Amino acid sequence: MLLQEKYEAVIGLEVHAQLATASKLFCGDSTGFGAAPNTHVSPITLGHPGTLPKTNKKAVEYAIKMGLACNCEIEKDNYFARKNYFYPDLPKGYQISQHTTPICKAGYVTIHTSTGRKDVQLNRIHLEEDAGKSIHDLEDDFTCIDLNRAGTPLIEIVTEPDLHSAEEAWHYVTEIRKLVQWLDICDGNMEEGSLRCDANISVRLRGEKKLGTRVEVKNLNSIRNVKKAIEFEIDRIIGLLEEGKTIQQQTRSFDASNDTTFAIRDKEEANDYRYFPDPDLAPFHLSPDYIQAINTDLPELPNALTEKYMSRFGLSEYDAAQLCDAKSTAHYFESVILHSQQYKAIANWMLGPIRQYLNDQQKDFSNLLLKPATLAALIELVQLSKVNFSVASSKLLPVLLENNADPLVLAESMNLMQVSDENAIEAWVNEAIAAMPDKVAEYKKGKKGLIGLFVGEVKKRSQGKADPKQVTSLLEQKLNQ
Ligand code: ADP
Ligand code: MG
Repeated sequence: MLLQEKYEAVIGLEVHAQLATASKLFCGDSTGFGAAPNTHVSPITLGHPGTLPKTNKKAVEYAIKMGLACNCEIEKDNYFARKNYFYPDLPKGYQISQHTTPICKAGYVTIHTSTGRKDVQLNRIHLEEDAGKSIHDLEDDFTCIDLNRAGTPLIEIVTEPDLHSAEEAWHYVTEIRKLVQWLDICDGNMEEGSLRCDANISVRLRGEKKLGTRVEVKNLNSIRNVKKAIEFEIDRIIGLLEEGKTIQQQTRSFDASNDTTFAIRDKEEANDYRYFPDPDLAPFHLSPDYIQAINTDLPELPNALTEKYMSRFGLSEYDAAQLCDAKSTAHYFESVILHSQQYKAIANWMLGPIRQYLNDQQKDFSNLLLKPATLAALIELVQLSKVNFSVASSKLLPVLLENNADPLVLAESMNLMQVSDENAIEAWVNEAIAAMPDKVAEYKKGKKGLIGLFVGEVKKRSQGKADPKQVTSLLEQKLNQ
């Protein structure tokens, strides 16, 4: 029996998302990334005695947004607690968190994998503050500490142990990143640490109900690394089980240089964090009206929009989902359809040559110079057979992507208008036939597939401008004489 059939992997993910508020969770310090070290550090961030924190309302609103988008139940009565532990980049000696009383409970995130749709069950989404950063590689003899990040608002999105493969985890984190960006609550930038993932992984015999002992791989900073770390861990744990070894609960770290993980500490017993409600922070109550107002304000979410594009515009699931891969893509599509109803053609242009160009430039649809109305006009030119598609995409589009212009005026000035003048087309057709007498003979003997060769020859002679439908019918007429 294959080992993959004998065992089942069980994975639970904890994703930390840095909320895109202007200021920190409990004080007015800026959350801006990349400032000189230790410049966003008021006495509150530094944890000086006698300072009084105050909750950032925007951060609470953002957490609720994510909770609603993930179908969670929103807790109305909330408070923050102190999670006590010593850490060099946590100056207060405790982290303010909601670990045991999260603002959002249960819920799910829908993903689409190669085996279909799945609702990944969530345990909770809670608010907490981030710690500062310890930098070990700047000085030989010291660790440097930058407290700019200390106190930055985070939400932690925790799944149930409901994922069963690296592929599912990859889709899940991709979906979470898309959602937080879609809601404008986090920039989703994993390189800058705005989105970080801890992966909990265990393996059990297939059919077994009890969960196996888990290992936790901390601080995965790209979606690729989430996938690689899980793949590595599943293989490693199965290997140990096959050798008859028992699995130790462990915290591990990922080495991106060779896609492996290594142990950083064993977790023999649970830490006692002396968790208690923070007496400096007032509990807060959320009224149903307040939650309802946030709900009403939510943008249409990508999964709902994908379904709408399929049912209303007749697009394939693939096209519809690709148009909803980011808010900027969907937004652009919505702008083009104000000018054109050629939905399939719009999708083809956007997801084909235009996205190719954006990928090459490392841009997205929000920085596209090509105006939606211009794309609609270009599509219409092709639709009306004034310019053929290959000329439009290879000659007109590259110009229009860099400079705004009227596609019709541009096509005329570049001498690219499709020629449907019978005499001109007949002249090219005659030339093509005259140039290949032996092929004509073969065609007449029954090798009808050669028609493509003649069409190609006319295309060459007309520099792509001859209307291909007219060319084909005229060629057939003449060759069948
Ligand atoms: P902690 O706060 O100590 O990390 P939690 O109980 O909050 O522990 O769980 C953290 C994550 O680990 C959750 O996503 C949960 O689903 C997952 N998890 C817990 N037990 C297992 C297990 N045996 N195998 C895989 N994932 C697990
Ligand atoms: Mg954990």
